[in-house]
Amino acid sequence: MDVPALLRWYRAHRRPLPWRLEVSAYRTLVSELMCQQTRIDTVLPYFAAFMVDFPTVEALASAPTERVLERWSGLGYYSRARNLQKAAQAVVAGGGFPRTIEGLRALPGVGPYTAGAIGSIAFGLDAPVVDGNVERVLARLHAEPNPAKAWLWATAGEALPLGEAGDYNQALMELGATVCLPRGPKCLVCPLRPACRGVGAPEQYPAAKVKKAVPRSRAVAAWIVREGRLLLARRPEGGLLGGLWELPGGVVEGGEPDGASLRALLLQRIGAAIAAAETLGAVAHTFSHLHLDTTVFLATLSGEGSPLGYPELRWVPLADVDGMALSTLARKTLVLGRRAPSA
Ligand code: SF4
Repeated sequence: MDVPALLRWYRAHRRPLPWRLEVSAYRTLVSELMCQQTRIDTVLPYFAAFMVDFPTVEALASAPTERVLERWSGLGYYSRARNLQKAAQAVVAGGGFPRTIEGLRALPGVGPYTAGAIGSIAFGLDAPVVDGNVERVLARLHAEPNPAKAWLWATAGEALPLGEAGDYNQALMELGATVCLPRGPKCLVCPLRPACRGVGAPEQYPAAKVKKAVPRSRAVAAWIVREGRLLLARRPEGGLLGGLWELPGGVVEGGEPDGASLRALLLQRIGAAIAAAETLGAVAHTFSHLHLDTTVFLATLSGEGSPLGYPELRWVPLADVDGMALSTLARKTLVLGRRAPSA
């Protein structure tokens, strides 16, 4: 690999991302966790708002978790937000960021990739990183259809220029994100073209992975408004979307997502019967492991309700609902609810 050409290209063409314009271990940690499974364009406004609310690792460590989740709301994969705060708390408890890859890897939610990114970018450690972009570039460069993880880390490490690992790692990632694209790579303008063995048929590398079929489930949710307040339920900590707020309801096992299934679920989960229910529509949402079709009902309760199947229920003024820590799925159901005559 022509590393000097790669570094020259990177320094001339890198995107001016906020965590590159002002570099710190904390900003690198936040940006790396936000960018996992998420497009950079999506991350940018979240990163800016996060830095206003939690400008330092200490501010993040001491913030109420619900506020952190509110700021993360809409980015998905909420375990990242919880791990980010736990990592911040571990950093503060330890008197600062660890300065070794092993120390960084011991932080909650920090794997070899994130440790390599923080270590090389913020502390100048000579550590490689391998993410999806780096994997694609290396596989094409070496015409390797099935690159094993160990081979990728070794190959990234062998070419690493000592003392310049931060720029080298970011250059490989940036090349994968902007030039060596999954579809239609721009080989004509690539600084690695002269030595690239994948030129000519780059999309053959790496070979496409066989995707597992994602199962489909159905769920119901209730839009219940009383005196201008919407009933929201907080999901249990630890599970899928743990700690986030949503319309009460749940997955329907076996039967139809109708008023009867909603009634049975709400009796179990909020200890109150519904007096009436009318369908408002359905929303589809895809998690990494599941497609979920949720039917939303306009409902009224015949009792008060108590949090049997949730840690907490809250009647939230309609004007305050958007400020709650809601999942993307919950936000989709709210759009339907707001079309209800009572909203
Ligand atoms: S020459 Fe083409 S395939 Fe090779 S690294 Fe560059 S963009 Fe990717």
